[in-house]
Amino acid sequence: MGLRLYNTLTRKTEEFKPRGDTVGIYTCGLTVQGPPHVGHIRSAITRDILIRWLEYSGYTVKSIENFTDIDDKIIEKQRKNKEDWRIIAHRHIEKYLRACDILNIKRATFYPWASQHMEEIIVLVKKLIDKSFAYEKKGDVYFRVRKFPNYGRLSKKSIDELISGARIAPAESKEDPLDFALWKAAKPDEPSWLSPWGKGRPGWHIECSAMSMHYLGESFDIHTGGEDLIFPHHENEIAQSVAATGKEYVRYWMHNGWVTLGGEKMAKSTGHYFLIEDVLKNYSPNVIRLYLLKTQYRNQIEFSKDRLDEAKAAYSRIKIYVEEFKELPEKIEPLMLGEFTEAMNDDLNTPKALGKIYDLVKKGHEKKSVEIAASIKHYLAVLGFREEVESSGELSYQLIDIILHIRNKLRNEKKYDLADEIRTDLENLGIKLADTKGVSLHRLEDK
Ligand SMILES: [Zn+2]
Repeated sequence: MGLRLYNTLTRKTEEFKPRGDTVGIYTCGLTVQGPPHVGHIRSAITRDILIRWLEYSGYTVKSIENFTDIDDKIIEKQRKNKEDWRIIAHRHIEKYLRACDILNIKRATFYPWASQHMEEIIVLVKKLIDKSFAYEKKGDVYFRVRKFPNYGRLSKKSIDELISGARIAPAESKEDPLDFALWKAAKPDEPSWLSPWGKGRPGWHIECSAMSMHYLGESFDIHTGGEDLIFPHHENEIAQSVAATGKEYVRYWMHNGWVTLGGEKMAKSTGHYFLIEDVLKNYSPNVIRLYLLKTQYRNQIEFSKDRLDEAKAAYSRIKIYVEEFKELPEKIEPLMLGEFTEAMNDDLNTPKALGKIYDLVKKGHEKKSVEIAASIKHYLAVLGFREEVESSGELSYQLIDIILHIRNKLRNEKKYDLADEIRTDLENLGIKLADTKGVSLHRLEDK
């Protein structure tokens, strides 16, 4: 059996059947008012593992991850810091992508920014007004929730339940408390764009509908994001998109669980979080990856030093075994491939897949075997563990990453002399590089 994914829309684990030759994936990315914390990285690693596994299974993937660079929180920050919102957004996007590179999180095919897609957003809002799914009031535009028959299907909320919690804020002029904003009239000193309804800016939900459909088409395969986005964000994305096109919007909705801290959701808004840049000061990218993959993506995961230390110990057991072998064969038929594949096909069950790696390590201790070590290395690469770097000095992973990034570029351009020179220089500093030669690794990395 092939890949099965849990679909939030149907609350069932379903066999994955792509719509066409290329699997289209959209991920709700960061609202870039601050640097990424561990919760953001978990969403990114979920997307990363999904893409790695699809590609390993032979699929071609086109993945889009957006940045919400215009929103209330960023405007608030602009006011507070007296700094241009674009500079705030740009700085945090850079930090996020840098962290993803260090953590070996595969880059999406495109990273659209909401502010660069005003035309698509305005066209979509206009379409919803034309179909009377939306209406304008004093420069604001709202979506008529009651007009959309399947509203609440994703989050399993009924209109009655929603009504009891809904309220109209004094400044709003909605017809119905359930309606949500597609476009917001400009307030003084706020960034704004010209639209048929006067100067204003988009609501958060419409940005994702516009960007996802722009890059992936009106219907696409998989939408991912944190489980906190199910309502209202993804519910509203479905309503807007289906109302506009009359077509199925997304086939599979995948949501990852929260990272918790003392049982509560890690979140920027509550000040209850750990920045990934701080965690990287004490734990290597591979240890952080192992810590996150030890829990299946749908379950919540508690952030604690003890859990990270456990992951560190587990990772070093694997590493010590593999490093006993100086040279590993380039081409291998990995051992336990059927079992590993079955674990990953079972809704990306990474704890089970890691279990196969631990089993191999255990077997390897009974009998030293090149075949076992090469298989472990193969699976580590499949799960996105990065080229190992050993640092004996005070150089941070961030700094080593910059050097490695440049070195990899040189290797890609076949400038091996320079790449070798960097390697020798690093070795003189006590940093050992292990270039991955296996075909499997190239297959994953060169795509
Ligand atoms: Zn979104």
